[in-house]
Amino acid sequence: MVSLVSKLQVDQDRLMESIADLANIGALPNGGVQRLAFSPEDCLARDLIQQWMRESGMQVRIDPAGNIIGRYPGRFEQAPALTTGSHIDTVPNAGHYDGTYGVLAGLEVIRTLRDRRHSLDHPLDLIVFADEERTMVGCKALSGNLGSDALPYRSTDGEPIQSCLARVGGDWSKRADVRLTSAELAAFVELHIEQGPVLESAQKEIGIVTGIVAQQRYIFTVEGRGSHAGTTPMHLRQDALVAASRLVLAVHALGNRPGDQVATVGQLDVAPNVANTIPDRVELSLDIRDLDEDHLDQLMTKLEAEMAQIAAETETRIQLSPLLRNQSALANSRIQTAIAQVCEDLSLSYMQLPSRASHDAQEMAQITDMGMIFVPSEAGISHAETEYTSPEHCAQGANVLLHTLIRLDQHYRCSTAG
Ligand SMILES: [Zn+2]
Repeated sequence: MVSLVSKLQVDQDRLMESIADLANIGALPNGGVQRLAFSPEDCLARDLIQQWMRESGMQVRIDPAGNIIGRYPGRFEQAPALTTGSHIDTVPNAGHYDGTYGVLAGLEVIRTLRDRRHSLDHPLDLIVFADEERTMVGCKALSGNLGSDALPYRSTDGEPIQSCLARVGGDWSKRADVRLTSAELAAFVELHIEQGPVLESAQKEIGIVTGIVAQQRYIFTVEGRGSHAGTTPMHLRQDALVAASRLVLAVHALGNRPGDQVATVGQLDVAPNVANTIPDRVELSLDIRDLDEDHLDQLMTKLEAEMAQIAAETETRIQLSPLLRNQSALANSRIQTAIAQVCEDLSLSYMQLPSRASHDAQEMAQITDMGMIFVPSEAGISHAETEYTSPEHCAQGANVLLHTLIRLDQHYRCSTAG
């Protein structure tokens, strides 16, 4: 049995064919794909996935939050489920791999198990999460973090979430029933393209995600004094943009301090934004991310001290207002170890790295043991039609997912639960 299991390998051609078939739904002339959540294209893709799930011997249900959950039965039907999955909705003008790859690799894992008539002890659930790219309504319902206000979940063109969900077989009024508990789940493992350049530049085949980083967003407001750009001598100026420029450099330097953090000013609003007037007010965004929230807080304390110094030296007033604070979601260490052991067994090179993008896994981490596997993204490009991961890397990731699930099936014992 052990040798049979260790020889199990996914079918690379079948996996790539499924990725190509799904990319035909919502295909764009530039080679990209667009399947916004709940759009006609998303609905068609959802139908196709459900058909494939049924053909693979899975029981399929849609929960009230619009998640598609396909179950490959295990030997102990009452045992908590091992789960995998991702999303098939896309951003506008997307590529073929973000989200879709994780879903179809999960399907390929189940097709491979079925071909060999191999069942796990645990039921294996493949989840297609509803609307990952915009509102995360699906995964938030599963973790119980949806809230009662429907407004934030409406579609880009203003359609209420109630009718969006009704169209795919969901029911907003029953959203509270969606929540899963740790008693129903053994673990969740999401396979995803990296969407960044780290694995490629380190020449590693597999990334073991340590967690999904905490993200904080702020607005700096700098107030100086607007005056004539010709008649005001340099030493009498209170130039808000000069102070803002020093803030941009301070943020960049903060990102370059020792540690894994990233820090960015991506947005600048200058007033009056006139060539011959000294700027009197500038608003700047700050986005800062790290896995370690204490470390983030320490960095912010340093930045605030620097901010005060810049304000004093430029004779401006600088305020910092918080906009958003997302907590980090740590990957379970035993799942990380299992993934590393699988990489060793399969002779694949690997490294640990944090995920600096959001994923369905961050919500699942709140209700069960979570792990994530990354495969390289060519040139780190994602959310664009040029997004690419080679067929070899796609198959390697799917094999790591397959064998990680087999390992976890043994790790989380069923005999008592079943
Ligand atoms: Zn994604």
